Amino acid sequence: MQEPPFPIMKKEKRCTTVLDFNKVPVIDNHSHPFDLEKVTLDADSLAKVFFHGIGDIPTEGVKKAKLWGTTDELRYHLRHMGVVQTMVCLLSKLLGCPAELEAVATERNRRTSENFPAYTRLLYEDAGIVGSVLDTGLPRNDPLIDLIPGKVMRLFQMDPLLDKLIEKTDSYKELLREYQTKLDLAVKKEGFVGIKCHLAEQVGFGVESVSDAEAEANFPAAKVKDSDAFKKLYVAIFTRTLLQCQELRIPLHLHTGCTGGLWNGPISNADPFLLVPLIRQPKFLQTKIVFLHAAYPWLQHAAELAHSLPHVWVDMSWTTPWVSLRLVECYKEVIGIAPLSKLMLGSGGHDTPEIPWLAVKTAKIALAEALGDVVRLGLLTYQQAEKTARMILHDNAARMYSSHS
Ligand SMILES: [Zn+2]
Repeated sequence: MQEPPFPIMKKEKRCTTVLDFNKVPVIDNHSHPFDLEKVTLDADSLAKVFFHGIGDIPTEGVKKAKLWGTTDELRYHLRHMGVVQTMVCLLSKLLGCPAELEAVATERNRRTSENFPAYTRLLYEDAGIVGSVLDTGLPRNDPLIDLIPGKVMRLFQMDPLLDKLIEKTDSYKELLREYQTKLDLAVKKEGFVGIKCHLAEQVGFGVESVSDAEAEANFPAAKVKDSDAFKKLYVAIFTRTLLQCQELRIPLHLHTGCTGGLWNGPISNADPFLLVPLIRQPKFLQTKIVFLHAAYPWLQHAAELAHSLPHVWVDMSWTTPWVSLRLVECYKEVIGIAPLSKLMLGSGGHDTPEIPWLAVKTAKIALAEALGDVVRLGLLTYQQAEKTARMILHDNAARMYSSHS
């Protein structure tokens, strides 16, 4: 038989270099303070830290359903979440104990009760976290801030200030003036590097702009807690904040997709595509907007918008580490379309240091695999892949906050 003129299979030298980002420094773009009541945790409670859904024992007086109690049945499922099993797998290696939830909890409790700051440092050093952007209104010198190893940058919180000012002021005009003064001060005098808003949870993304006259007309009803009127005010302040961010040269951080606080509301209204008619208006195009939580499960939507809109960045928190077992695919989704300079690692960490630690450990594994693939396919060189990982893990965030450090 004659050989085909062009061989179908060719022998190629495969790239065998293994990417390893273990030593790459990291900025966690989305995290929260630790909760000192969670310094020691039984095994079930350690697993529950990774749960963002609702409990199944409604508790009187507790409004947040995620704080409700859990039956044995639900606890069984919580310890079998993929992210919890990944934590057990990786933490057992670091702590030198069996890969079982009870063993890991016992060993971490032994260490945390002896010296919580030392335990936290161990985790942050192991992951390479050198900086964190913290969603908190705590003052710079608060002891809880000192507990976070490395450099801490804080995000000013829109929601608590808005709630306070609705009570305190007598008109929308007065509210707006006080709000803008406080935000100005927070950035210029108190060192906040950005602002965090919850448009998805409070209102939903499918909204239109609200004029000053409309906001003023809704003010009295918002003051007596009418929820539709409150939503109007929220949108009015949100859009004014978008503009003030340009003046202050700070980014605006926005939860997109799954969040810890959406289960009371219309979760389908957290798809960032719904936000486009509002944020694509020319006057907002120079406000840097960071889509937190990578809009999971609408990752492709977030990444597409980072490509199409000049002012959108994507932060991988919530996805990292929660989707630990398919994180490679998640990173492939975003590196596939978003500019590589607009992606940032975040953890969404809260309460315990295990979350940021696990986010970084899993992100480094996922990036090595996702970028290893593109190197193997000849789509990027090894050096380009390495630079990409450094950008996502550290450099893009460092660039974002460089004027405020
Ligand atoms: Zn978050």
